[in-house]
Amino acid sequence: MSISPIHVIGGGLAGSEAAWQVAQAGVPVVLHEMRPVRGTDAHQTDRLAELVCSNSFRADDWESSAVGLLHAEMRRCGSLILEAGDAHQVPAGGALAVDRDGFAAAVTARIEAHPLVTIAREEVAGLPPADWDSVVVATGPLTSPALSEAILALTGEGELSFFDAIAPIVLADSIDMDVAWRQSRYDKEGPGGDAAAYINCPMTKDQYEAFVDALLAGPKAEFKAWEHVPYFDGCLPIEVMAERGRETLRHGPMKPVGLTNAHKPEEKAWAVVQLRQDNALGTLWNMVGFQTKLKHGAQTEVFRTIPGLEKAVFARLGGLHRNTFLNSPKLLDASLRLKADPRLRFAGQITGVEGYVESAAVGLLAGRFAAGERLGRPCAAPPSTTALGALLGHITGGHLDGGKGSFQPMNINYGLLPAIAPPKRADDGRRLGSKEKGRAKKRLVGERALADIAAWLGGADVLEAAE
Ligand SMILES: Cc1cc2nc3c(=O)[nH]c(=O)nc-3n(C[C@H](O)[C@H](O)[C@H](O)COP(=O)(O)OP(=O)(O)OC[C@H]3O[C@@H](n4cnc5c(N)ncnc54)[C@H](O)[C@@H]3O)c2cc1C
Repeated sequence: MSISPIHVIGGGLAGSEAAWQVAQAGVPVVLHEMRPVRGTDAHQTDRLAELVCSNSFRADDWESSAVGLLHAEMRRCGSLILEAGDAHQVPAGGALAVDRDGFAAAVTARIEAHPLVTIAREEVAGLPPADWDSVVVATGPLTSPALSEAILALTGEGELSFFDAIAPIVLADSIDMDVAWRQSRYDKEGPGGDAAAYINCPMTKDQYEAFVDALLAGPKAEFKAWEHVPYFDGCLPIEVMAERGRETLRHGPMKPVGLTNAHKPEEKAWAVVQLRQDNALGTLWNMVGFQTKLKHGAQTEVFRTIPGLEKAVFARLGGLHRNTFLNSPKLLDASLRLKADPRLRFAGQITGVEGYVESAAVGLLAGRFAAGERLGRPCAAPPSTTALGALLGHITGGHLDGGKGSFQPMNINYGLLPAIAPPKRADDGRRLGSKEKGRAKKRLVGERALADIAAWLGGADVLEAAE
């Protein structure tokens, strides 16, 4: 009996990986890529999986890096992107960096040579035809306007964003709670009955003035000429607010009203930085109203001057870019299908992940989910203890709804994975220092993830099932 094909739209990082996973499962796939018929503002070639900017897949060590762990899991799942990355790596210390031309040529050649893949060089300029009953949309941050308008019509105004406005996110256990304290403004109870929903970091007048000076002086990232990113009301970069007047921030996101310092009740803060819980696990907290175009190095330096954040570990730094992404926690089900039209699955950056590897990872999952469905052998989601599962959780449910625009793209990071208590002592009985405990914790998270991904592959591997 012939199996009807799955259609993948977009032959970037996610679409190439999705098409590969579908084909490897024994299911035919048609990959629709619009280049070279129609270009984007960032791509330069007609190759599949073109890297539009840096040539790095970032750290490659599963014992000490969340993205390294994602690499390791993807290799175990037979990822084409990792296979081609490994084959075309260039020296980059502990990172996996690639020769971009060799990498993209290898991905293109492998996909072109696969007997179950057909490549159609065409733009899908609207919703896919009704007879495409299983589609993976992986058209990325620069989805062509015709398709994004069609998606917008399907999802509703406000559920597809064309720019990201990202505030930094801090790992909860790196905030100094001897300085910061939990309280909602005026102790107002939220819908969940919590009157202490925010973490507050107080500033004196001198600290505030120095902070404003640092914001004004700090180096800013430039917009690309084609980005045309507008400044929206309500999400101006903090340095732009500071440029509008030294007091603007103190009357905006840093207003100190309705808050009493739990450690020094008699001292009135001149300004307060608030952080709001970002994920259901409670491990990630975002800096409210702190979207910024400061360069990443400057962000780390300037934001660590905030009392309570001196040792902050940033799961994500701020930014403002041209991007196209869905309000996925609301729109997608647990296997990345659009609830309003389940024949459509989404993958890659358009789902609200950030980065080459993360985009490919979501492509890998979408491909496996689609193939499993086609074969009548549904593929379970990977456990939330794995980097793949954690990324999927961020997109489809882990993020806490903090109101309009609160869901923003994110790289994989340890804050998305359930924590593990680190051992107190080394094997020789010696007490571990805090750095050693941090390293041990990451290694344990990695070991648990790799064991769980192996079990997942054993139990739910559509590739094996198809053989
Ligand atoms: C300018 C820029 C720089 C970036 N730099 C980095 C970086 O340095 N490091 C990093 O990790 N991440 C970076 N990113 C973020 C992200 O990781 C990449 O954009 C990544 O390529 C996303 O993968 P994707 O598969 O979702 O989309 P893409 O790789 O962009 O693939 C989408 C594909 O869909 C095609 N397409 C679009 N619309 C249609 C249509 N209607 N019909 C058919 N085909 C269509 C496009 O031609 C493209 O080939 C950058 C993003 C941008 C925009």
